[in-house]
Amino acid sequence: MTSPECVGYVNSNMESAVGSLYVAEAFPGDSKDMVRELIDKVRAVFVETLDELRWMDEESKQKAQEKAMSIREQIGYPDYILQRKNKRLDEEYSNLNFSEDLYFENSLQNLRAGAQRSIKKLREKVDQNLWIIGAAVVNAFYSPNRNQIVFPAGILQPPFFSKEQPQALNFGGIGMVIGHEITHGFDDNGRNFDKDGNMMDWWSNFSTQHFRKQSECMIYQYGNYSWDLADEQNVNGFITLGENIADNGGVRQAYKAYLKWMAEGGKDQQLPGLDLTYDQLFFINYAQVWCGSYQPEFAAQSIKTDVHSPLKYRQVCPVLGSLQNLAAFAKAFHCARDTPMHPKKQCRVW
Ligand SMILES: [Zn+2]
Repeated sequence: MTSPECVGYVNSNMESAVGSLYVAEAFPGDSKDMVRELIDKVRAVFVETLDELRWMDEESKQKAQEKAMSIREQIGYPDYILQRKNKRLDEEYSNLNFSEDLYFENSLQNLRAGAQRSIKKLREKVDQNLWIIGAAVVNAFYSPNRNQIVFPAGILQPPFFSKEQPQALNFGGIGMVIGHEITHGFDDNGRNFDKDGNMMDWWSNFSTQHFRKQSECMIYQYGNYSWDLADEQNVNGFITLGENIADNGGVRQAYKAYLKWMAEGGKDQQLPGLDLTYDQLFFINYAQVWCGSYQPEFAAQSIKTDVHSPLKYRQVCPVLGSLQNLAAFAKAFHCARDTPMHPKKQCRVW
């Protein structure tokens, strides 16, 4: 095993213990409140933006608003992992007896403990407050059957978020992630669950039909992207639809929330040495958080299986699915009409 693999293995098998150490070392206490405020701002924009949609009728908009307002949030970490007197963390590991030099046996213990934990849940009432992921994880989640969004401490750090960095970067980073997760509640899968997380159809026939029509535009748009690293194979517009709907909604909502924050008197700061407008900073950080690289072998596999579009279509270069659909981007960077980033035809669901 390479060392990132070992770290990943320990973090996923002992997420509360690693999370506890990580949060104590690296997570500023007041981040929770700042992120909660950001969630409220982005959620408010999601609801306000419903007014703009011509494809959805009033009845369904009302239900969508109720669902958005009912989304529950988990931010950072569960409190008990930091409480010295709380026995819960010790109990989680009470039947594990690791030895420093018995890697294989330790793995068996992990498998056994994991199976026991899962089986025990069958006899217990569902705990709605249970954290579905560890604190030291750089990712965020929407859970359709809880109608819940989760932002572990691991993603609440630069470039996604910092109270020291310009708000343009926070809105373009974690603000967009918040919008992305909220929008998952209304993508082709999430829309089938109601505000309490029960699978239930709350849509009128009119709105359902038009949701499908709006979605088709994105299926076709993303399905036309081919990926050099994966032998020029095309993206699968169907399996990536939910993520693409979430990316598109997320960046739109975060951008509007940023404009609103400014209009309400928010004062932002520049980045030293960069001659960029606030709007440009927002989009640059949006792209920055998607930066990454793939091995060609991995690219060839993930284009067939990954529900997320390749990073290059989530970020700026050379084409960017979600920003082709957002007029504000073309405006911020003065892209001429009928160029790739300012096309005639744009897709939009939320
Ligand atoms: Zn997603």
